[in-house]
Amino acid sequence: MSTSKLSTVQSAYGARPAVREIVDRPWHMLIGGRMTDAASGDTLDVVNPADETVVARIPLGGATDIDAAVDAARTAAPAWGATSIVDRARVLTELAGAIEAHGEELAWTDTIDNGTPVRVMRNDFRVAVAQLRYFAGLALQLGGETIPMADHDALDFTLRDPFGVVGRIIPWNHPLMFAAARIAAPLLAGNTVVLKPAEATSLSALRLGELAAEIVPPGVLNIVPGLGSVAGEQLVTHPDVPRIAFTGSSVTGRRVQARAASAAVKTVSLELGGKNPLIVFADADVHAAVDGAMAGMNFTWQGQSCGSTSRLLVHRSLYHHVVSEVGRRMDAMRLGDPAEPATDIGPLVSADHYAKVTSYLRTGLSDPALDLVAGGTTPHRPGYYVRPTLFSAPSGPAGPLFREEIFGPVLVAAPFDSYEEAVAQANALPYGLTASVWTTSLHTAMAAARDLRTGYVWVNASSSHLPGAPFGGVKNSGVGREEGIEELKGYTQPKNVYVRF
Ligand code: NAD
Repeated sequence: MSTSKLSTVQSAYGARPAVREIVDRPWHMLIGGRMTDAASGDTLDVVNPADETVVARIPLGGATDIDAAVDAARTAAPAWGATSIVDRARVLTELAGAIEAHGEELAWTDTIDNGTPVRVMRNDFRVAVAQLRYFAGLALQLGGETIPMADHDALDFTLRDPFGVVGRIIPWNHPLMFAAARIAAPLLAGNTVVLKPAEATSLSALRLGELAAEIVPPGVLNIVPGLGSVAGEQLVTHPDVPRIAFTGSSVTGRRVQARAASAAVKTVSLELGGKNPLIVFADADVHAAVDGAMAGMNFTWQGQSCGSTSRLLVHRSLYHHVVSEVGRRMDAMRLGDPAEPATDIGPLVSADHYAKVTSYLRTGLSDPALDLVAGGTTPHRPGYYVRPTLFSAPSGPAGPLFREEIFGPVLVAAPFDSYEEAVAQANALPYGLTASVWTTSLHTAMAAARDLRTGYVWVNASSSHLPGAPFGGVKNSGVGREEGIEELKGYTQPKNVYVRF
């Protein structure tokens, strides 16, 4: 598609030839067990967000490639579904081992593609490995039920049937982690998968494809990069894909739901965005709450996390202290080259996302109701860098920065006076993904856990995902739960069997 040349990168990365070699090579997608180019021959440039240079070129999959991948997945589905679940689990375990063995390379690949500091990216491959092993370990838990019958000479039980082909669409904020971890449950449940990574960050998914081609039977896993509006839509509307699992923005998620329904009755699960509150009550351990507010923003991923607690609501008695301390900590963060071990926060993922986040900065800076506490600037250097930014709204939350998901290193803060006011503010938005509550009162903690309308609540904690704990949203933040046994069951359909004997 693009005609620009592969760059001879004269940047921080240019000084590290071994790092550049990781991505400066031919890339192919995985269809039916073969590594292949796009049928059209189209390609997409891969831009390093740290210096805006083109560092690789990948095949740009289109409708024809999605069709071929779905065909391969449909053909492979019966044999994979008939493979014993113990053997399917063994394949996941082998894939986890291959990822672990290539973890350093995969972390660098994601850093060059996505901009998150490499020391942080190392955690992503570890999470992917842990999730693959977690689901492999659940294999013998995927049982059905027996249902008591009035008829003495009868037995009623359920089987868990796979759907067939699962279309899996992922975003760019944790490229390898999502690509590897989010195929575990559908594959274990006996489905075959067509994975479409985000166009901004497909490299590690393609590398995963190369590793998987040696381990996973042909057609069981297919990986096709491409534009959401072309490859994504084709996958969502394909008549042979009855199960769609989507992670991305709420706007796209709603479109996916509508487009899927326009093609057929499909099962669609959605992991979407959030504008998540972190509430510091008057009796909180203030030092811990400040730590929690910093961790909750996931600044080390440039705030690019669905679960980021990007609305800081603080009891008025603590407001000034908490806001100025969080602002001081944000100002102390080292923004810079994600290849450097000392870097705390790297560049945003892409030029488009930089334009979006900086437009929110301009909105905030021109809003008389908001005080700038930290950041608010972008350094004069190549790369999509934004300083971690904190706005305070002393007269209460209002305006788009309090309502809309920015998905960047931008935090907004406002005071509250009562429990009821805090919960009302927290629940005021059409999002409901996560919430974090800071208090030393058992009553306040339990009441908030009951009253907050989100899919996930941390008490005196933030940011962490806990293996086995179901993650997902309510309202416009999503449908379905992932990372626990519910995710696994969500890739099966119960079939009831009634037997008279
Ligand atoms: P996005 O919705 O723009 O894109 C996500 C994926 O959907 C990409 O692969 C994209 O190519 C594809 N896509 C785009 N349009 C499509 C269409 N019409 N049909 C099918 N596929 C399409 O989101 P993004 O900007 O890549 O990611 C950021 C968003 O993801 C944020 O809103 C964030 O909160 C959300 N997110 C949610 C979770 C969660 O677990 N809830 C996790 C990570 C990110």
